[in-house]
Amino acid sequence: MAGLRIEQIQVLRDNYVYLLRDEDTAACAAVDPSVAAPVLIALDRLGWTLTHIFNTHHHHDHTGGNLELKQACGCTVVGHARDAQRIPGIDLAVKDGDDVALGSARARVFDVSGHTMGHIAYWFENESALFCGDTLFSLGCGRLFEGTPARMWASLVRLRELPGNTRVYCGHEYTESNARFALSLDANNLALRRRADEVRRLRAQGLPTIPSLLAEECVANPFLRADDAQLQAAIGHAGSEPVETFAEIRRRKDAF
Ligand code: ZN
Ligand code: FE
Repeated sequence: MAGLRIEQIQVLRDNYVYLLRDEDTAACAAVDPSVAAPVLIALDRLGWTLTHIFNTHHHHDHTGGNLELKQACGCTVVGHARDAQRIPGIDLAVKDGDDVALGSARARVFDVSGHTMGHIAYWFENESALFCGDTLFSLGCGRLFEGTPARMWASLVRLRELPGNTRVYCGHEYTESNARFALSLDANNLALRRRADEVRRLRAQGLPTIPSLLAEECVANPFLRADDAQLQAAIGHAGSEPVETFAEIRRRKDAF
């Protein structure tokens, strides 16, 4: 078992494309290739050959490189069956609970809709790695473009139940502004303050804050804590239904 290697490429303003390579078989996937050129350059530098694209959702800043990469590499494009119409070049349509193979590595597919209504996450259990697109960010979550608060809250609760040592590879480097917002709600949360300090330090050096650790998200990310009594009290929502608190936090973030 040689395992999975993960390379992270920053593209556009703040998007991440992840290159995954199963070292046993040389199978190699690009997760959410928004653009092709930086991916091709990275593949060349690493000496890797692309066999798959794993899309989390249809937005152009996650699928914009699909067709060019498919033409250049002949790779298999994987995406949500429900969004097959909107994912360029899709070959393999998957749904919640499916397993996707990357050589000898396996990812479990979760439907985590809310940001869009065909959003999936890929969980590599043996590697403790989660690729969750624009559902869960470090200290944040995606905007509700297509789904309801109830739908998104259910998706986040599902991700929250994964093992705490799961590394969270999300779609964007939004952590520093997410930290400012989170502190505006929850300034007395020590775990959040520690993470915010670390994030500021990393960003000041131009370093990524991703991946983050799921256990740290669970204690610091307000969008995973809508059912936490202390956070509910801090925002004047003591005793509310978690989904109501989640909707309120999302509304405040949209206006922040
Ligand atoms: Zn998106
Ligand atoms: Fe995005």
